[in-house]
Amino acid sequence: MALFGRRKTIRVEADILVVGGGMAGCGATYESRYWGRDLKVVCVEKANIERSGAVAQGLYAINCYMGMQWNENQPEDFVRYASNDLMGLVREDLAYDIGRHVDSTVHKFEEWGLPIMRDPATGRYQREGKWQIMIHGESYKPIVAEAARKAASEVYNRIMVTHLLMDSQNRNRVAGAVGFNVRTGDFYVFEAKAVIVAAGGASHIFKPRSVGEGMGRTWYAPWSSASAYGLPIQVGAKMTQMENRIVLTRFKDGYGPVGAYFLHLKTYTQNAYGQEYESKWYDDTKQLVGNYVDRHPVPTCLRNHALLKEVANGGAPIRMVTKEAFQDPHKETVGWENFLGMTIGQAVVWASQNIDPKHINPELTTSEPYVMGSHATCSGAWSSGPEDYAPPEYRWGYNRMMTVEGLFGAGDASGGTPHKFSSGSFTEGRIAAKAAVNYIKDVGAKPGVDEAEIRRLESQIFQPLENYRVGRNEIVAGTVSPSYILPLHALQRLEKLMDEYCGGITVNYMTNEPLLLRGLELMEMLKEDSDHIGAEDLHQLQRTWEFKHRLLASESVMHHTLFRTETRWPGYYYRGDHMKLDDQNWHCFTLSRYDADTGKWTLEKAPVYHIVQ
Ligand SMILES: Cc1cc2nc3c(=O)[nH]c(=O)nc-3n(C[C@H](O)[C@H](O)[C@H](O)COP(=O)(O)OP(=O)(O)OC[C@H]3O[C@@H](n4cnc5c(N)ncnc54)[C@H](O)[C@@H]3O)c2cc1C
Repeated sequence: MALFGRRKTIRVEADILVVGGGMAGCGATYESRYWGRDLKVVCVEKANIERSGAVAQGLYAINCYMGMQWNENQPEDFVRYASNDLMGLVREDLAYDIGRHVDSTVHKFEEWGLPIMRDPATGRYQREGKWQIMIHGESYKPIVAEAARKAASEVYNRIMVTHLLMDSQNRNRVAGAVGFNVRTGDFYVFEAKAVIVAAGGASHIFKPRSVGEGMGRTWYAPWSSASAYGLPIQVGAKMTQMENRIVLTRFKDGYGPVGAYFLHLKTYTQNAYGQEYESKWYDDTKQLVGNYVDRHPVPTCLRNHALLKEVANGGAPIRMVTKEAFQDPHKETVGWENFLGMTIGQAVVWASQNIDPKHINPELTTSEPYVMGSHATCSGAWSSGPEDYAPPEYRWGYNRMMTVEGLFGAGDASGGTPHKFSSGSFTEGRIAAKAAVNYIKDVGAKPGVDEAEIRRLESQIFQPLENYRVGRNEIVAGTVSPSYILPLHALQRLEKLMDEYCGGITVNYMTNEPLLLRGLELMEMLKEDSDHIGAEDLHQLQRTWEFKHRLLASESVMHHTLFRTETRWPGYYYRGDHMKLDDQNWHCFTLSRYDADTGKWTLEKAPVYHIVQ
């Protein structure tokens, strides 16, 4: 009771509330101030924006830069590239919108002090590939965060947002958010006229390859806990393409990225016997997806597919051939620096396993699946498009507004727009913020909040502490309680369930209707049990709410995977009962809506408009 007795309620009023201070959240905060000089702009973040989100460790490349000043690429090229990689299904209006604005974002980063490498011969930014430019990016996040800090009226760090608040009169209009301080336990109520959700992607919804003490090492940041999906889903926002999870081919055990190796160091892969293997699986792939296999570049999922087939056929381990490139001292340095600036864990793994890539070709493997809308997949909220470019069917409100009024999304939160990465996510935050300012100016009035709802949410948020406080008295030995489960137990159950029923690593990414239906039944049981999670302290309370957001996102992934009766992205997952790509019936987006009152999901199709030829 002592903790409850001390808990304060802190109320904050804002015009614009930005949930999540990662790349998109910093972009949204920065731009909100630019267009809304007199507005109160509040950014709320569960960690500290200085080093939060997927870019916390730093990056070695900005993966989305057109280079329009040098006529390197145009936004239309970007749309074609993203659409090609996603097997034809992207929101071209949204992608174009990112493409036309992203260069200005990168120029700002450089102005703010981010060192971008330059090609000494041309003076242009050093390219890693067609879309990537190389940076000295260890301090990328602090540089971007400084701009957001200076722009914000207030930044609230260490606040885990658990729920969005809705207008007491209009149940389809957002009115703010609630959460708690993960250090003090204080309850926070934010009231706002517009909310921009930028709370990152979803790792740890599928069982990771790393287990035991290494479980915290996943490819996407382990703290990316699906709030970008859990928060809008709870309030009935429509989601899109949630089945479109991504599986990454990465260096084994450390998930070290391979982009710089392929693109800059020009390394290549081979099977255990030193043979090139991708061409071996051409006919097999063509049978599944038809002409998509002939596209350039070959879509990422199809390259995964070839690797998976080779492994299933006895060709493992697959290796990256580094021995040749690493004879060049410059390339050797670049190879190591690539990890030291952003994935230091991979360098540590190699050191601990006696792997010197100059003498040993390191192993590659495929990761567990992830769901996020900013990297190379399309999952996220179904958002209204730009006024000048979106077809009428994609435009019901302000740019990047979800199907809930006043609720905007950016970065991982926003669906249909893959390949935006760090720079594109910041850019999308800016786009959403400009639209949110316009929305506020147009609607004027502040939404009302229902005090009874706030109190109901407060008791729900802190209930796991009470479950633990009471339930622990029943334990006579060890940690297993008859009346509660711990957040880690719940998470591991979810990961196992998603892995085995929804196409994770232990089933070679295979699923089908009977598996998905059983998975949904088991998920119902997990949902019932999740009301009985016991949280020992505030840290575990945060873990509890992260789990709950992951659970809701996972349920959405299950429903979407069940709905799309084809295998659109072999190499990411397979519907064993519908093994082929089916353009006749499924060249479309999948949309879902969750009704929190009934617990029911509604799914529908939406057309894909090809705007760019
Ligand atoms: C391993 C890896 C490598 C990558 N490599 C590159 C690369 O080389 N180049 C490149 O350009 N991009 C790269 N990316 C992609 C890039 O990092 C993401 O596209 C980008 O960070 C997405 O921005 P975001 O704002 O949506 O999410 P994030 O930047 O992850 O920000 C989300 C923020 O929300 C906060 N948050 C989450 N939940 C809550 C909550 N409930 N309440 C309050 N706050 C919350 C988080 O703490 C975080 O600060 C990489 C990503 C990863 C994981």
